[in-house]
Amino acid sequence: MRILVTGGAGFIGSHLCDQLIVHGDEVVCVDNLFTGAEQNIVSLMANPKFIFIKHDIVEPLYLDKSVDQIYNLACPASPPHYQLNPVHTIKTSTIGVMNMLGIARRHQARFLQASTSEVYGDPEVHPQTEEYHGNVNPFGPRACYDEGKRYAESICFDYHRTHGTGIKIVRIFNTYGPRMAFNDGRVISNFIFQGLQDKPITIYGSGSQTRSFCYVEDMVAGLIKMMNSPPEITGPINVGNPEEKTVTELAQKIIALTGSSSIITYLPLPQDDPRRRCPDITKAKTLLGWQPTVGLEKGLQKTIADFRQRLGK
Ligand code: NAD
Ligand code: UDP
Repeated sequence: MRILVTGGAGFIGSHLCDQLIVHGDEVVCVDNLFTGAEQNIVSLMANPKFIFIKHDIVEPLYLDKSVDQIYNLACPASPPHYQLNPVHTIKTSTIGVMNMLGIARRHQARFLQASTSEVYGDPEVHPQTEEYHGNVNPFGPRACYDEGKRYAESICFDYHRTHGTGIKIVRIFNTYGPRMAFNDGRVISNFIFQGLQDKPITIYGSGSQTRSFCYVEDMVAGLIKMMNSPPEITGPINVGNPEEKTVTELAQKIIALTGSSSIITYLPLPQDDPRRRCPDITKAKTLLGWQPTVGLEKGLQKTIADFRQRLGK
């Protein structure tokens, strides 16, 4: 198959491209390198089945050959990155998604949209099921991301209902692993980066807020299963690891695993930071036969090994 991956030079996208190439597919990777890096796809560049196009999906894209599937992952994912240029973030999930849906319609390609647990905002239902409509502040600093992703889900369904476009919506929960950028700003990359350099571990707020972390290999397996599931499975479907931890527990685990002498320092909690997050993955289990296989400790060990190698520590 010929597969378009937008955001393919990013963290999850580059692991996805690796897997598709291993499977024997041709991959067209489109990325504007805002948060992604050529380094993430350097091993693929020499492969004749891999094409990289530096392009911003907010601008129209014309492909010379048709594609069978589109994984739309382009969008900065870390709060400091998506808040850097919020107008561009929302354009990416609105105009950008519409541009990519236009390609899907023209080429009759299946379209998988990387949605997010952020569509649930600061959830009042726990764990979060797909039926829950969320609790999002529509004009806060996270809204450029949350509302953009909610719009994206809605336009995907409109293309599906109006034009018969084959859509697959995956609500991705916090994902981590090798290749996360050092300056990513997300909690696991921050804590490992700080821990390996014996710098203070920065907990925002009290550290009692929770997240549920999924290892990137499991996430990519879930995305591929969803893309290749029967057409009637449109989602939205939660993909994540329901092993819920407080930020304090995470900090303690990373200090132990890195053998760090870091102290913990407390910084203000960012506005609208969700207090609890944990996916209900019943649908992923029953409809896709998917569930995570890598526990937090094992995944952190692999991630720490990658950070050590890149930092020369
Ligand atoms: P990332 O920032 O590493 O990757 C995003 C990629 O998209 C980068 O390579 C970036 O350069 C590219 N990009 C951004 N805007 C673009 C644009 N307008 N045009 C073309 N390319 C653009 O983040 P990630 O963690 O790999 O996330 C990938 C996708 O998964 C995103 O859509 C994100 O919203 C979603 N997601 C990720 C998580 C997570 O925990 N990692 C959680 C929920 C959802
Ligand atoms: N966080 C933290 N210290 C950091 C980075 C993040 O305590 O250095 C907290 C953040 O406030 C949030 C949780 O960790 O409660 C997860 O943050 P992240 O940015 O990784 O993801 P998101 O908030 O989008 O789930």
